[in-house]
Amino acid sequence: MNPQMLQLLRESRGLSSAQLAKTIGVSPATMSKIEHGLAPVADDRLTRIAQALDYPPDAFAWNDQVYGFGSAVFYHRKQQSLPQSTLRSIQAQVNLTRMRLTRLSQSVEIDTRFKVPVLDATEVGGPAAAARAVRAMWALPMGPIRNIAATLERAGIVIIRADLESQKISAISIPPLDGAPHMMFVNASQPADRERFTLAHELAHLVLHGDAIAPETAEKEADEFAAEFLMPASEIRAQLKGISLQRAAQLKLIWRVSMGALIRRARDLGVIDEARYRSLNVQISQRGWRTVEPAPIERDVPTVMRDLVKVHLDDHEYSVSELASVAGMHPHEFAARYDIDVATPKRTHLRAL
Ligand SMILES: [Zn+2]
Repeated sequence: MNPQMLQLLRESRGLSSAQLAKTIGVSPATMSKIEHGLAPVADDRLTRIAQALDYPPDAFAWNDQVYGFGSAVFYHRKQQSLPQSTLRSIQAQVNLTRMRLTRLSQSVEIDTRFKVPVLDATEVGGPAAAARAVRAMWALPMGPIRNIAATLERAGIVIIRADLESQKISAISIPPLDGAPHMMFVNASQPADRERFTLAHELAHLVLHGDAIAPETAEKEADEFAAEFLMPASEIRAQLKGISLQRAAQLKLIWRVSMGALIRRARDLGVIDEARYRSLNVQISQRGWRTVEPAPIERDVPTVMRDLVKVHLDDHEYSVSELASVAGMHPHEFAARYDIDVATPKRTHLRAL
C-alpha cells in the first residue's frame, strides 16, 4: 500500500484522518502513522479501509506522483478563501482524475490536430493579441466560436465537467504532467454561456501562464484573452453600437456568450460609456438576470472522456467492471460517473466461448 495514495483517496471522499480512523476502529494516532508510512498495514486492515472509502484495494497501491496546486494550477483569488478541507478534496479529485485518464488513454490515441501554444503576453503584444494568435494557429474561422469544447479538444485538452464542491471555483486547469494531456476541470453548475467563457479563460491560463509563475495580473489577462477569443474586437465592435438589453439578448444567441459579457465588451471597447454600462447593469440586476439570464443557449459538451470509455467498452471489449478496475473504482461509481447503464450494457460484441 502507498500511504500517499491512501491519503489522496481519503481526501477524495472528504473525510478527515480522524473520521476514517473512527470508521475502521483504530486510534487517530495509528491512522496518522499509517498515512505517514510508519505503521504496517495488514491485509484485513487494508480491506476495512478500502471498504470504508468505497475503493477497490488495488487503487491503494498506485504509485503515481501526486501534484499540488502550485501557482500554475491555482490562479483564482477567490479560491484562497476556501477551507483547507475543500481544497484538499478538490486537489485529490484532480489528481485521481489525472491518474485515471493516464491509465484510460494508454491503449488509445486521442486524435489531436493542434497544440496548445505557450505564449508570452508581453512578447506577442498583450493577452488580446495572444487570443488572436491562437485563433490563427488553430485555423478558426472568423465569427463566433461555435463549440468551444470541441475546439479545445481538437488541441488535445481533455475537459472534465465536475461538481467542484464550491461555487467559488469555476474551473481548474492543469498543464500536461506525466504523459497526461492538458486538463480542464469545469464546475458543471454554471450556465452554458458562462461555462464557455470559463473555458476560454482557462485556455488563457494554459497559453499565457502554463509554465511560469502566474503574474498578479493573471486573472485580468485571462479575461482579456477570453473576451477577444470569443468576441474578436474587429468583428464585434460594430454590432455592439447602441447596445440595449434586447440587442444583447439577440447577440447572445449569435456569439453564445452572456448578455453581461457582451455589455462588458461594449464598455471595454469604448462603444458605450461608463454611465450607460452601469445603467444596463442596474437593469440586469433589477430583473434578476445576474443569476439567471434569459435567452439560454445550448451547452458545448466535451466528448473525449466519454469516447475514451466508449472505445474501451465497445471496441476493446472491456466489461464495465474491468474498466472500472483500470480506473481504480468500483463498477457502480464508474458507471455513474461516466453515465453507463450497467443493467443493460450497450456492448453487442459476443465473446467466443
Ligand atoms: Zn483564472
